[in-house]
Amino acid sequence: MFLTSAAPSCLSKTQAFLDREHKLLIDGEWVSAQSGKMFEVKNPATGEVISSVAEGDAADINSAVAAARRAFEGGEWPSLTASQRGKLLWKLADLLEENLAEFAELESLDNGKPRAVAAAADVPLAVDLFRYMAGWTTKIEGTTIPISVPYMPGAEFHSYTLREPVGVVGQIIPWNFPLLMAAWKLGPALATGCTVVLKVAEETPLTALRLGELIREAGFPNGVVNIITGFGETAGAALAAHPDVDKVAFTGSTEVGKLIVKAAGESNLKKVTLELGGKSPNIILPDADLAAAIPGAANAIFFNHGQCCCAGSRLFVHKSQFDEVIDGVSKQAAAIQVGPGMHPDCQMGPMVSQIQQDRVCSYLDSGLKQGAEAVVGGKRVNGGGYFVEPTVLVNTQPNMQVIQEEIFGPVVAAIAYEDVEQLVSDANDSIYGLAAAVWTRDISKGHQIARRMRAGSVWVNCYNVFDAALPFGGYKQSGWGREMGYEAINLYTETKAVTVQLQ
Ligand code: ADP
Repeated sequence: MFLTSAAPSCLSKTQAFLDREHKLLIDGEWVSAQSGKMFEVKNPATGEVISSVAEGDAADINSAVAAARRAFEGGEWPSLTASQRGKLLWKLADLLEENLAEFAELESLDNGKPRAVAAAADVPLAVDLFRYMAGWTTKIEGTTIPISVPYMPGAEFHSYTLREPVGVVGQIIPWNFPLLMAAWKLGPALATGCTVVLKVAEETPLTALRLGELIREAGFPNGVVNIITGFGETAGAALAAHPDVDKVAFTGSTEVGKLIVKAAGESNLKKVTLELGGKSPNIILPDADLAAAIPGAANAIFFNHGQCCCAGSRLFVHKSQFDEVIDGVSKQAAAIQVGPGMHPDCQMGPMVSQIQQDRVCSYLDSGLKQGAEAVVGGKRVNGGGYFVEPTVLVNTQPNMQVIQEEIFGPVVAAIAYEDVEQLVSDANDSIYGLAAAVWTRDISKGHQIARRMRAGSVWVNCYNVFDAALPFGGYKQSGWGREMGYEAINLYTETKAVTVQLQ
């Protein structure tokens, strides 16, 4: 269902932000790119240019890394107490919350997602993440360790560990949750006392730039957070390869993740964490409550237009219920109100860009050509923006691209199964391992399947449940390390073992 009535205009403060000239945040100042270049930001619902931002490249990355290094090694930031760091993070969360409506509009105009979803999920989750990480600042503890040292009989020691910030961190984020991905990355880095160069996605630079304004307002010392807008092949690649960056944290495609690892290896062996693609299985067992599982399966794939790395894109349904479930999910898909994210009734916006729309549609074409059938959807929505119909594919085969590869769009491939043993092995048959879900009334079975899934997150009788306290990340080619929770704190620290010989 496509919304045809016009979307309302945005708040005057949102418009004022769009109209401002957007520069790079380096060493606490907004500066132009050294090349002087700018690039346009488009509203994916219309294709219209809504703003323009500086095009940072390797030269600007160099300046930003130098600023981050200075801030890490001297001055105000390293001398702050843990509690003072926590207070700054909490203040940032408060400022973000105060500006929630503006952030939700910017996210909707820049990324395409429904404003209501950004206001209910993206922005509050980012606020909560900063508060959660503020709490960790005072709890990053080492341990005391009894040691024996067999070759020093009689000697006495006091050994303990310190957890220290890993240093200057390069963070490269994608366009699907622009503000939230910035928060997931910045939160643990700042809680642990690192300094950051953040390279935002070229498709969606706006909310991170607005966040940069709030970071200054909150009172973070200069150079602690530097924000570079620019392209992946130039700015992103320069950050991943920079010899003075201690860690790079990346979220994006598996293909680019491999380039990041290579760049890290060939430069200075910086630490790497990666949150990459997925092709997550969503399993409905025969005893499931279908009244919950059917809308759950629709939400698993259609939330954020399927532009979620953990989207439930392979739907496994028992043969005996296949028609009923597919009919239910297809009805849900057909009822989704697609339109500009700023429209108050919008439930699904456009793909983020023309490139993404073309990519999703080429997967649809390949699936249909290989014999899959679209029960609902299956093509782009012609009109101003980059819309794709919510799609349910059946008659899929294991060797099809639509089963094996991440589409990153509103396309679910349904698979009928007969045998639960075979089901587990088919569900795990993917190069990815980001998420999985199982729907069942038998909670023991739910736990058993959860254990057998080779995935970093498993949901039972729910999907897309995120919390700042829950670690998120992937098995296999879905990534290295975890975001959020204490796991993320760990990955932004080094462990130092100190041993004192007692006289
Ligand atoms: P997508 O293909 O969905 O846009 P990408 O993995 O290409 O996802 O992009 C995620 C982030 O990685 C973006 O910020 C992008 O600019 C950045 N990026 C893309 N290519 C490179 C690269 N070669 N090196 C470093 N970063 C990159």
